[in-house]
Amino acid sequence: MTPNGSGTRSRSHAEGEAAARITVDPSGVEAFLSLVESGPIAESDIQAMLRLPVYRKMIDALTYNKEVVADIYTRALTRDGPDSMLDLEDPRSGLMAKDVQFARMNRSRLRLFLKEVQQEWDPTSSVRLVRKYLPEDCTAQEARVTLLVGLAQGMQSGNELLIDLPLSLILRPEDALKNLTQLISHELHHLWRGSLTAEPHSADESYRGIVWALTQLEGEGIAMTLVWDGLDAHEAMRREAEGMIRFFGEPARELTEEWLSVYDGGHVKYLSELEEAMRSIFNGEVVGEPATHSVTSVLHSTVDHPVGHEMALRIQLELGQRALTECVSRPYRFLQTYQEAAKFLGNPSVAYVFDDALIEQIGRQVFARDDS
Ligand SMILES: [Zn+2]
Repeated sequence: MTPNGSGTRSRSHAEGEAAARITVDPSGVEAFLSLVESGPIAESDIQAMLRLPVYRKMIDALTYNKEVVADIYTRALTRDGPDSMLDLEDPRSGLMAKDVQFARMNRSRLRLFLKEVQQEWDPTSSVRLVRKYLPEDCTAQEARVTLLVGLAQGMQSGNELLIDLPLSLILRPEDALKNLTQLISHELHHLWRGSLTAEPHSADESYRGIVWALTQLEGEGIAMTLVWDGLDAHEAMRREAEGMIRFFGEPARELTEEWLSVYDGGHVKYLSELEEAMRSIFNGEVVGEPATHSVTSVLHSTVDHPVGHEMALRIQLELGQRALTECVSRPYRFLQTYQEAAKFLGNPSVAYVFDDALIEQIGRQVFARDDS
């Protein structure tokens, strides 16, 4: 028996054990299907579905449009024209409504897909992918994959991974199971990452935004990188954006154009704006809540994922996989490692290089580091 062989076996054993801790809860999709398969839909039936624990959890986990969820489902399920969706003010509400409408119109396909997932989806594929992007000492906690309709994305809430099932049929009808694995793996990475001890940081209210921004960039950036593992990430994102716009129309254009611009060199602009915002905080020009806002408004929810993704990809490309996994749950290390990778590349128009003195100041004042 070669050491190599036994190593491979124990790794696959560990993968099997981790996979056994992942369960799939189809009740959200089943409730939706029985609602739309039963003839005319009454508003009271929609309300009843949204009161089920799985949909309650979804609504609790939403950080936006909580109040309009019932309206979104009602419009999508009781009116036929797509136009009634598009006057929803927030583009994300429009995406949710289109997702619900798609699931209603394609209910037979959705039922078949649910069956395929229950019979054929192998959690080991997710475990293997997620493991590759975590340090060795990370614990594989129990996870419940909660499938539902209308979220139009994935979300992690405690040990629950809330996953929109129709989205995979919409984004990649020819390879929906693979798309679902990517969605689940992204959220599973968030969950397992949470078992690692995070870097200690200052409790100063004025630094809250800096900690938040660097944590988002690290957490989302690495979780985005694993989604496109082994593929040309830029090309894959572009194809995904085209698919989104084709199906979701205008609400998706607004969102995807912004994140595609990040991949077209726009991350340089966002990172330099982030640097300026952080500098103003250190100079005492903004303090307290306005300091937090000055950072969150630069790195708002549409661009934090792609900007973090660009940083993680840079680390992976220039310094290798291990350098990247060592940054998991360590936002300051992520920033330092990115800086090293960006300097190594030596092309500031492709990879923004921060001011070293500022990075050192972040370490000292925000992350209590004295290793400079
Ligand atoms: Zn995420």
